[in-house]
Amino acid sequence: MMTRAEDLLSSVFGFSAFRPGQAEIVSAVAGGRNTLAIMPTGGGKSLCFQLPALLRDGVTVVISPLIALMRDQVRALREAGVEAGALTSGNTEEETEAVFSALEEGRLKLLYMAPERLASGGTLTLLRRIGTRLIAVDEAHCVSQWGHDFRPDYLRIGELRRALGVPLAAFTATADEETRSEIVTRLFDGAAPETFLRGFDRPNIHLAFEVKDQPRRQILAFAAARKGQSGIVYAGTRAKTETLAAALREAGHTACHYHAGMDPDDRREVETRFQREDGLIVTATVAFGMGIDKPDIRWVAHADLPKSIEAYYQEIGRAGRDGAPAETLTLYGPEDIRYRRSQIDEGLAPHDRKAADHARLNALLGLAEATACRRQRLLGYFGETADPCGNCDLCDSAPELFDGTEAVRKALSAILRTGESFGAGHLIDILTGSQTEKVRERGHDGLPTFGVGRDLPKAEWQAVFRQMMGHDLIRPDPERHGAFCMTEAARPILRGEAGITLRRDTIRKAVARPVVRTLVSDEDAPLLSALKAKRRALAEAARVPAYVIFPDRTLIEMAETRPGTLDAMARVSGVGAKKLESYGAAFLDVIAGAAEEMHPARRRLAGRPEGTVFDRLMQAQADLARGEDGTGKYLSCTHSTLRRLAETRPRSLDDLERITGMSEQKIDRFGAAFLEILAGG
Ligand code: ADP
Ligand code: ZN
Repeated sequence: MMTRAEDLLSSVFGFSAFRPGQAEIVSAVAGGRNTLAIMPTGGGKSLCFQLPALLRDGVTVVISPLIALMRDQVRALREAGVEAGALTSGNTEEETEAVFSALEEGRLKLLYMAPERLASGGTLTLLRRIGTRLIAVDEAHCVSQWGHDFRPDYLRIGELRRALGVPLAAFTATADEETRSEIVTRLFDGAAPETFLRGFDRPNIHLAFEVKDQPRRQILAFAAARKGQSGIVYAGTRAKTETLAAALREAGHTACHYHAGMDPDDRREVETRFQREDGLIVTATVAFGMGIDKPDIRWVAHADLPKSIEAYYQEIGRAGRDGAPAETLTLYGPEDIRYRRSQIDEGLAPHDRKAADHARLNALLGLAEATACRRQRLLGYFGETADPCGNCDLCDSAPELFDGTEAVRKALSAILRTGESFGAGHLIDILTGSQTEKVRERGHDGLPTFGVGRDLPKAEWQAVFRQMMGHDLIRPDPERHGAFCMTEAARPILRGEAGITLRRDTIRKAVARPVVRTLVSDEDAPLLSALKAKRRALAEAARVPAYVIFPDRTLIEMAETRPGTLDAMARVSGVGAKKLESYGAAFLDVIAGAAEEMHPARRRLAGRPEGTVFDRLMQAQADLARGEDGTGKYLSCTHSTLRRLAETRPRSLDDLERITGMSEQKIDRFGAAFLEILAGG
């Protein structure tokens, strides 16, 4: 069975291997067992029901809450040569008719359907008649009445399963225990399905936080370094989405705003443009996202702190679903913390809920104020252990730490001695011994704590207070605006029973010149642009989003490996049989055009003996790109690495590593073959 699945995986979907977890889920679903799969966004859920649909007889009905998303999946499946259709309120009459005739002829393998359809009496009859053999439920958490995405019609799915007597496969990215058990109750009548909980790591997403300094400048700098790449900026207010979009446009980006206060038509237009266009930036409130199934979002920035660690995870998770590198930046400051706290305190939820919400905010603040690898901490929250990731800002450069116990104790004592009635500004005046009018008026210059904090400048005290909020040692008093009160968590520090490590402030001095991040080496960048231009032209002609033709990742691999034949092209990840037939030749032409121009790294060696060596190295690399047996993970070196090798001719693996900085993995793969060539004439 698995071999046939693997066969379809490469011939239809064009993937060389399953992602972690997919194989097991596919086998359970295809085997007709009830399944619940919890996978992070971008983990590759759709494949886990699409592939079994092809392996099984009859029709698989897919229930999904979002019309735009269904339509895109159907389009992508058809591009891959799979018979799929959707019955939604967004259909034209012709589309609906086409779906019905495909059903009558027994051609259709996947039928997508909005949950609202389940309310109509004819649906069950229809699903029986067409030979439905499997129900797949996307975004299964929509069945949870306590969640934000509750869809009443999802409650009919359990009934449908019983009436049809077919297996059901449910998928969601929401992991919490409560939601999971609700799904089991409502979709499976409480009989536990085979459950898969897949890793929550998204290793291709770079994580970073920055203390808010000049937020607009910080966001603009981040966007400037990623010009031309699709991104989302989340902001806390509607007004801010509009001013940020305007600022981005002024800086030469294509950008538009999105929020729940807009006209539905305008909102839909933004969604459609975002899905279709390459390189559009959307500034949005959290209202934007759930309907978005765009795998090639290259970055996500938060201009304001999200409300919880779950919200953070979900929002950054929209980036890089195609697996290619993606970057995120979250800004936060004392005002954000205050705002999020008061939002919880002023809400109408019962006490328990508020306490839970504070705890989830705390988890995010802990991540923001982390002193070591952020991913370790994030995954730790989801119950996973991991090594330092090497792909977050704190792994990139370790923060400067100091023992903050003394400072925190002084600050706490200032808070207690002034009756927990003041905010950071006044407390810092007391600590640093500033004789302000307010200080004198209240006689605070007579306190024993007056001036005990002169060793730190005011800006550092700000950072101490912010981190104290972040570690939940103090909270803004919900009754008295702006005042801090101490929490239980602070008591051990005050009593001298515990210490605390803090960071020197993380406000970075203005970055002089943004470093432009590219997806490929400089030498391959022109070819990647040419491939993208071809993709855009094909997408416009076929009226589909660009990634439906090929995802970024596939184009990156094409630019790096430069296949010269259709056979070589077929080995690129993401190139299935149908797509090879439809588009292979067009992209080969683009690559051939670039080859005629000769690669810039190679051109520098033209007419010299090093040129021949370079060509041999290229050939050896191409032969070994997937290892000796052709099934390994794809690896390659940049053209400039090969040029350096040809010019410097290292004689040993040590020299080779020293000169090129190649990873151990690549040295294992190519080192011996390269040295052999370099040792030759
Ligand atoms: P989600 O779990 O969020 O629904 P999708 O099903 O949309 O994720 O998949 C995310 C991206 O990963 C898509 O672009 C898809 O083509 C790609 N993908 C899925 N499975 C694989 C695989 N085995 N190899 C490579 N890419 C894959
Ligand atoms: Zn890290």
